[in-house]
Amino acid sequence: MLGAVYYGPKDIRIEDMPDPVVGDEDIVVKVEMAGVCGTDVKTYLRGHPMFKPPCVLGHEFVGEVVTAGPRVQEISEGSRVVVAPYVPCGSCYFCHRDEMELCQNKDGLGGVFAQYVRVPKNLMEKGLIEIPHKVKSEDAVLAEPLACCLNALEDCDLRPGDIALIMGGGPMGQLLLQSALLCGVSKVIVSEPQKERRELAGELGAITVDPESQDLGQFIKEETRGTGAATVLIALGIPELIPSALHYACPGGTVNIFGGLPKGSQINIDPNIIHYQQVRLVGSFGFAPRHFAAAVELLINGRINSGKIISHSFPLERIQELLELCAKQEVLKAVVKP
Ligand SMILES: [Zn+2]
Ligand SMILES: [Zn+2]
Repeated sequence: MLGAVYYGPKDIRIEDMPDPVVGDEDIVVKVEMAGVCGTDVKTYLRGHPMFKPPCVLGHEFVGEVVTAGPRVQEISEGSRVVVAPYVPCGSCYFCHRDEMELCQNKDGLGGVFAQYVRVPKNLMEKGLIEIPHKVKSEDAVLAEPLACCLNALEDCDLRPGDIALIMGGGPMGQLLLQSALLCGVSKVIVSEPQKERRELAGELGAITVDPESQDLGQFIKEETRGTGAATVLIALGIPELIPSALHYACPGGTVNIFGGLPKGSQINIDPNIIHYQQVRLVGSFGFAPRHFAAAVELLINGRINSGKIISHSFPLERIQELLELCAKQEVLKAVVKP
């Protein structure tokens, strides 16, 4: 099979690799579409401690089961599936506390920037969901990023009628926007300097603001009748945004550090906002199986507009070119078709 092998920063080669061999209790899935995530782009540019080259990157995908081991009963050949890229162990301290996204013994899938991927028994049992053939690949491929957004909204304790502010209109910002609206918020404000991204957020139902040409604090005051936003989600990896985000939240509101920040980042905040105003500062990363399942339900029922979010679809052979475009921020959300 063809696979995109990562040899280190800026070095990905399309190679003929051995086809995955199915075990008695696992399956091989033919990748129909794979999503390019921020993590893939960061790894391509700078390397990543979790991905030691040579390896195949990619963790968001939808595909069809082509081979099932003789002892597999859960799923049959020809089924269309999405698989969570990692699953919790179910038996560590964090799993017992029902904080499965924090599990310390996660089991993960091999890279999906390839024509086929083997799904081992454990992932098949805990992370695989069969989806109808009529669901568009563009919808199904968003299951993992959407699951991360649902986890973040849960951590914000979002309530119907709340006003949410999303800082950053990238693919995650646009997914957060759509999920927040599905949760019944009364208004979503998206702050984003890029015009095209602002326009898209506007089409998807947000009130938008350009933080470079407008006073964001003043704008939020006006849009929230002076109270501030009940939820502030920072969907950008810029630490300097966090101290001001605390001022955009209403008393009792929540600020969520959702975007990953550069290693060693430091911030200086006014702790009295947290004490007197009871503003909560939280963070969210990854997802638990229940978020993945909820994301799949939203996607197969057509509740998320994926067509507007996926801006580039390339064949696997052109993945390096695609990653370069992603690095230049010329892409909203990219997918490859092996
Ligand atoms: Zn991802
Ligand atoms: Zn665990």
